[in-house]
Amino acid sequence: MAINFNGDPWGGVNQAAERRRAKDPRHPLVYRISFAAIGWANNVGHSRFDGLTLGKILADERGNEPSRQNMNKAIRKAKQLGLIEPESNVRCLVVSRRTFQRGGRGSYICQEHGISRGR
Ligand SMILES: [Zn+2]
Repeated sequence: MAINFNGDPWGGVNQAAERRRAKDPRHPLVYRISFAAIGWANNVGHSRFDGLTLGKILADERGNEPSRQNMNKAIRKAKQLGLIEPESNVRCLVVSRRTFQRGGRGSYICQEHGISRGR
């Protein structure tokens, strides 16, 4: 899939760095969710966390996971701020193609959202 931002300037993102930021408890939860969405996004913008859970990613400095209620609250806030797409949930965060695109090798599917190939 060719990268196309309709003429907007764009550059590459180091997804490993975004994953580290997502795990960094110094950042507010709502932004950590946005970092996780980009850090784990596949070629259709869906993130399944490669065997991790969002709770493990968002653990505090002592390793305690946020409550499901607090995670859902932060996901709702991230949607309100336009950081992630409305179909995002605790199992799969979705980032907009206006924000993030990825080509080449990688997954084009999401079982959580029933995407078998492309959108
Ligand atoms: Zn998905």
